[in-house]
Amino acid sequence: MRCPYCSSNEDRVLESRAIRDGSVIRRRRECLKCGRRFNTREEIEGSILMVVKKDGRREAFDRQKVLRGLMTACEKRPVPAEALENIADEVERAAYGRGLREIHSRDIGEMVIEALKALDQVAYVRFASVYRNFQDIDQFKEIVETLSRSVREAQNNNRDSQNKKEVQEGRTDVA
Ligand SMILES: [Zn+2]
Repeated sequence: MRCPYCSSNEDRVLESRAIRDGSVIRRRRECLKCGRRFNTREEIEGSILMVVKKDGRREAFDRQKVLRGLMTACEKRPVPAEALENIADEVERAAYGRGLREIHSRDIGEMVIEALKALDQVAYVRFASVYRNFQDIDQFKEIVETLSRSVREAQNNNRDSQNKKEVQEGRTDVA
């Protein structure tokens, strides 16, 4: 494989991973010349999944596109790149796992939203708001309310443990 950084053809495989039940193999490679690392994918030809967009147009499923959406949502968030790769793999596996030739773009969007929910709340709201295009404003409000509630709860918990600590250390008894 040609190194995307220095164009050398010499590399070694660090790791091979089967995804989509083995119909795709992902390899992590290291360039022997410049030492940089990159990923390659090998897949069975003809296993194309078409995505039906909102306006009815079709395009081939593109894992990179899913990954780009994830990266945008997680910009400046403390989320490791590997976690995003894993979500893209997961979405791809689930999309192909339906065994159909077509999938609706909104189904893919919902899979991403669900995965982000478990990963990073800010990225989740960002993606959900852009993806759902504020069309469903009630749902968006619900998301924001759930989010601010959980933030409040986290703050309360922090305050509680802070208070306990202070009591233990005798600081609050001074007066
Ligand atoms: Zn190189």
